[in-house]
Amino acid sequence: MPLIVQKFGGSSVANAECIHRVAGIIAETYSEGNDIIVVVSAQGATTDELIAKAKEINPAHSKREYDMLVSAGEQISAALLAMALEKIGLPVISLLGWQAGFVTNSSYTAARIKKINKDRVAAEIDKHRIVIVAGFQGINKYDDITTLGRGGSDTSAVALAAALHADKCQIFTDVEGVYTTDPRKVTGAKKLEEITYDEMLELATLGAKILNNRSVEMAKKYNVKLEVLSSVKRASGTIVKEAIKMEKMLIRGVTNDTDIARISVLKLPDNPGIAFKLFSKLAANKINVDIILQSVGRDGTKDITFTVHNSHGEKAIASVLEAFPNLTKENVVIDTDVAKVSIVGAGMETHPGTASQMFEALFSQNINIQMISTSEIKISVLVEKKDADKAVSAIHDSFFPEEK
Ligand code: ADP
Ligand code: ASP
Ligand code: MG
Repeated sequence: MPLIVQKFGGSSVANAECIHRVAGIIAETYSEGNDIIVVVSAQGATTDELIAKAKEINPAHSKREYDMLVSAGEQISAALLAMALEKIGLPVISLLGWQAGFVTNSSYTAARIKKINKDRVAAEIDKHRIVIVAGFQGINKYDDITTLGRGGSDTSAVALAAALHADKCQIFTDVEGVYTTDPRKVTGAKKLEEITYDEMLELATLGAKILNNRSVEMAKKYNVKLEVLSSVKRASGTIVKEAIKMEKMLIRGVTNDTDIARISVLKLPDNPGIAFKLFSKLAANKINVDIILQSVGRDGTKDITFTVHNSHGEKAIASVLEAFPNLTKENVVIDTDVAKVSIVGAGMETHPGTASQMFEALFSQNINIQMISTSEIKISVLVEKKDADKAVSAIHDSFFPEEK
C-alpha cells in the first residue's frame, strides 16, 4: 500500500472543529487505500503560551526544562486527533516523539535529529493503523526530551517520510500553498504550482515561515516529494521538488526577516588578518554571520559591519570586544531596527537587471538600502525595520504585476 505522511500545523488543529476536519482528511486518504503517518503541531498558540508561562515562572529557566514544557503541546494535539479518529471507527495510535524513535543530539531547544528508530512506527503501519506522531520532539542520549526549534514539526514529518520511504509528504497548513510572498500580508500574492528545493530552502531561510528550512534541507537530501496545501480548502497546493519546468518567472518569491541585528565595528586597524581575527572569534562562539560589509581603509583604520540573528546581538558584541580588547564599547554599535528583504529565484542567474529592478522598486518608495548581499539565486538588502512590509510590497508589485 502507498504510504503518505501528512503533517498538520497548529492552526489546522486549533479547536475541536478543526480536529474533526483534519480527521476527515485522514479518513478520506485512508479510505483511498493508503497507509498514513500523521505528524501534528501543538494547537493554535499553545507553544507561545507555554513559552510565556516559562518566562513568568523563571525567565532564567534552563533549556532542558523549556523542552520538557513546550513538548507538551504536541502531546495534547496527538491524543485529541487520535480520539477524533477513534470516534469515526478508524484504527489509530498516537505516539510521542521518543515512542516514534526520534533520537536527537543534546542541543536542547534546537536539537538535530540523529536517527529514527523506525521499528515501532513500521510495526503499526504493518497492522494498517493510522499512526499519529507528536511533532517537534525527540529524545537524547540521556533519555531527556528535546525539541527541534520553532516550526520543527515540518522537520519531524519530512524525517519520517525519509526514514519510512513514504511516497509523499503533505504539509497541511492555513494557506493554500507556497505563494510568491506571504499571502496574509500582500493581497496580490500568487500561489506557486511548483518550486525547487533550492528556491524553497532560500525562501524559508530568508524568513518565509511557511516551511521550516531544515525540513526543506532534509527533503532535498532524501528526495522526499513535498506538497504544501490547505487543511481548510480542498485544492491542489504547491509541489516542492528537485527540478521544475522553467516558467517565464524570473523570481519565485519575496520575503523578509525582521529578527536581525546589524553590528558595526568602527576604527579597526587597517591591517591584514583583522577580518580573520574578528570572524574566527564569532565562529568560535558559534555565532552565524550573514551579510558583511567592509569600508575602504582610511588613515590607518577601517570599519566592518555585519548582521547576525538578533538573539545573538549581545553575544556578538562581547565576542568583538574579546577579539579586540583595545576597542571600547563606543566602537561597537548595534542596531536591531533593521530587516532583511530578499528575492529568490533560479531564473535570476541568467537575467541581468534583476538587482536593478529590485533597487528601483525600493527607490520608488524612497527606501534606503543599508547593505546588499547576493548569491546565484537570491538578492538580499538590509533596510530600516519600519520599511520592511512596504519594501516587500513594492518589490512584489514590480516582479509580479497585477494582471489586467
Ligand atoms: P503551521 O502552523 O501550519 O505550521 P505556519 O504559521 O508555520 O503554519 O506557516 C503558515 C504561514 O506562513 C501562513 O499563514 C503565511 O502567513 C506564512 N507565509 C510566509 N511566507 C509565505 C509564503 N511565501 N507562502 C505562503 N505562506 C507564507
Ligand atoms: N509547536 C511548535 C512551534 O510552535 C512546532 C511547530 O509548530 O512546528 O514552533
Ligand atoms: Mg509552521
